[in-house]
Amino acid sequence: MPAPAELGARLAEIEAQGLKRRRRVLEGGQGAHVRVDGRELLSFASNDYLGLANNAELVAEAQLAAGRFGVGAGASHLLTGHHALHERLEVELAAFVGLPAALLFASGYMANLGVLGALLGRHDAVFADRLNHASLVDAALLSRARHHRYPHLDLTALDRMLGESPARVKLIATDAVFSMDGDIAPLAELLDLAQRHDAWLYVDDAHGFGVLGREGRGSLEHASSLTPHPSLIYMATLGKAAGVFGAFVAGSEALIDWLIHKARPYVYTTASPPMLAAAVSRSLRLIRAGERRRERLAALIARLKSGVAGLPWRLLPSDTPIQPLVVGGNAEAVRLSEALLARDILVPAIRPPTVPAGTARLRISLSAAHTEADVDRLLTALHEIACGD
Ligand SMILES: *Cc1c(COP(=O)(O)O)cnc(C)c1O
Repeated sequence: MPAPAELGARLAEIEAQGLKRRRRVLEGGQGAHVRVDGRELLSFASNDYLGLANNAELVAEAQLAAGRFGVGAGASHLLTGHHALHERLEVELAAFVGLPAALLFASGYMANLGVLGALLGRHDAVFADRLNHASLVDAALLSRARHHRYPHLDLTALDRMLGESPARVKLIATDAVFSMDGDIAPLAELLDLAQRHDAWLYVDDAHGFGVLGREGRGSLEHASSLTPHPSLIYMATLGKAAGVFGAFVAGSEALIDWLIHKARPYVYTTASPPMLAAAVSRSLRLIRAGERRRERLAALIARLKSGVAGLPWRLLPSDTPIQPLVVGGNAEAVRLSEALLARDILVPAIRPPTVPAGTARLRISLSAAHTEADVDRLLTALHEIACGD
């Protein structure tokens, strides 16, 4: 890490490696068509999978709640920040995912830090899929537990590692839908494994909640053969398909009670604005009744998959709205992203260290807000670029 005098040189290294980050400035609302840096773009770059971030019903609900209860919670949950709207939302969220109890967190990142920190210490061990989200990696490190990473979805290796570990408390941590690959973890099998080894199973469903399952209840609904068990801990974020902000953890009553006492990112932070809880409650209703949005997404995914045939780049096998087009080199991925941008299409290039070296990719993210014509426009552009136009 840099000393003060080295900072400029270290930043120059990042630039030289083609890893320099630059933030785009969004000027209107989130959606399939966005205004960014003064330009109108067709965007495949959000996690707003159901097109709810700018939904009129959610906006009206938030406005109503702001009018009645203000914009800030003003205190942490354990002081005076825990509002009736939070309390109601926690009950609704638990029922929605079919678990006994739920607890709101300010964000998914904080939920991950909070849960792992509350359950694990120096003599314990985390078993993490190698492709887990960075927030789970940070959560494992911060917990000070031993951090074992198993090859992506390799349950045989995981079984062996669990068996060999002398740790007192063991926790398996997995993304339910992998954020840069879009594939889905076999949760029922993972829960079996966890029970056999008397371990916790922690499921991060940031990208499945609202999208997977007939009623959008997420990865647990999708894993139809899974029977909930007290060792199961479920986390989903509310800023992606749900279109708002925040996160929640669901599990047994005892687990939630423990987190209220021990999860430091829960205890030592201001409660999120009650108006957001009101918006999420309304969002849950739209998600449950959102079968048409999910069917539309499935149709767009199928259209994209069949349309990429003949391109020099391949899509990873994914049935979720995350459709990664693997390009390989960092510079090549950036060039492709820039060529699309020249055609007013925004698809981010994802480079190491977010993904393994040599697998730089375009992360095409589909939304129910897209039309078939939007997907066709992307496909036409990709084919033109591939032909060297
Ligand atoms: C986005 C994401 C998070 C973080 O959630 P925030 O609410 O944005 O902090 C955690 N895990 C995964 C897999 C994610 O994709």
